[in-house]
Amino acid sequence: MTEENINIAKDTVVTFHYTLKDAAGTELENSRGSNASKSITGGEPVLYLHGYKGMMAGIEAGLESKSAGETASVTLGPDDAYGRYDEKSKGRVPLKNVKLPGQQTIKGKLKPGTVVEVQTKQGPREATVIKQGLKSVDIDTNHPYVEMTLTFNMEVVAVRAATDDEKQHGHAHAASSSCCDTNTKNNCCD
Ligand SMILES: [Zn+2]
Repeated sequence: MTEENINIAKDTVVTFHYTLKDAAGTELENSRGSNASKSITGGEPVLYLHGYKGMMAGIEAGLESKSAGETASVTLGPDDAYGRYDEKSKGRVPLKNVKLPGQQTIKGKLKPGTVVEVQTKQGPREATVIKQGLKSVDIDTNHPYVEMTLTFNMEVVAVRAATDDEKQHGHAHAASSSCCDTNTKNNCCD
């Protein structure tokens, strides 16, 4: 692949590192994993296709027209980030439908605030434990960052033109794998 020095625009694939801080300046996430517990990307930068609503709009706006090596910082209020607290996102589910992430077995009672995975009709969902009963668990599926004003500090690692496949699919493909091998159906992302 040729190295190009291009600016971020629609139909470019962007790789960037970021830190995420709350309004008090406390670091919540760091893509480099310098604080491993806070890296949800395993130390890898984030990869996305610009201009297809695959990324939070405020982040795309902040990165628009930047090139590799440049930085951008955006502060987004709850309405532009993870939204408002929704009372309807609280509910009671059977204990058997709840598990801890990473196959850990539940020992003893779940503490309030524990993040669990709940099996739903729409597939597994993350939720926070409010209270565990005998056979059920009261959970909250609001995103942990609702109601929060968040600052994203981003550092553009690479920008390249999207492939035809990526534009058709509306998302980026990791450089090492072409998304869908039509013969074997490996790595298929529809
Ligand atoms: Zn794809």
